[in-house]
Amino acid sequence: MGAMGGLAGFGLRPRSPRKVNVLDLRECERARVTRDRRYDGLFFIGVATTKIYCRPVCPVRPAKACNVSFFPSAAAAEAAGYRPCLRCRPEAAPFSPAWRGSRTTVERALRLIENGALDDGDVEELAHRLGIGPRHLGRLFQRHVNASPIQVAQTARVQKAKRLIDETNFSMAEIAMRSGFRSVRRFNAVFAEVYRRPPTAMRRFGAGASPTSFSE
Ligand SMILES: [Zn+2]
Repeated sequence: MGAMGGLAGFGLRPRSPRKVNVLDLRECERARVTRDRRYDGLFFIGVATTKIYCRPVCPVRPAKACNVSFFPSAAAAEAAGYRPCLRCRPEAAPFSPAWRGSRTTVERALRLIENGALDDGDVEELAHRLGIGPRHLGRLFQRHVNASPIQVAQTARVQKAKRLIDETNFSMAEIAMRSGFRSVRRFNAVFAEVYRRPPTAMRRFGAGASPTSFSE
């Protein structure tokens, strides 16, 4: 689990005009090919040929640069149609926000979402708790996270479920509940959409297993 035990990896702002603590694409590429641990959680790598996304520290041989795109968050990679790598486990990346501007609001929002703010409430309530309007919140998320609060909440639920599948022996019903899903059916549907396989099929990949056959 990440250092903060929360949402994995948010923060990169590619092509940002700001010069403070912002990674650029060349820097991402360098970090990717050298598997630079300092960048773990700062960005994610989508590979067009496999439609899988990874952490910079993924043990799998790095893909060709022409097949790679970078995302500031796991939610952004998923929104673009990539599924999480079973080797480097993006859900286990540390929470390493790289942004500086508007950090407090976005970070607070991410923490509230991680703690279930959008499982029970809606985006309007969340924005209200942060003292801003829902549209402003949406803009901040697009800019810093490259995904909407709703997408982030879905990724957070699936990540939590995946960690529980790997690290506990809870039943799937229990995992669905603890991860903030409203029903087991919803859990199964969302999980299968993200991983392209049902949650029960993930158990065999649990702790220590090496799903080498996954990279198709
Ligand atoms: Zn990987």
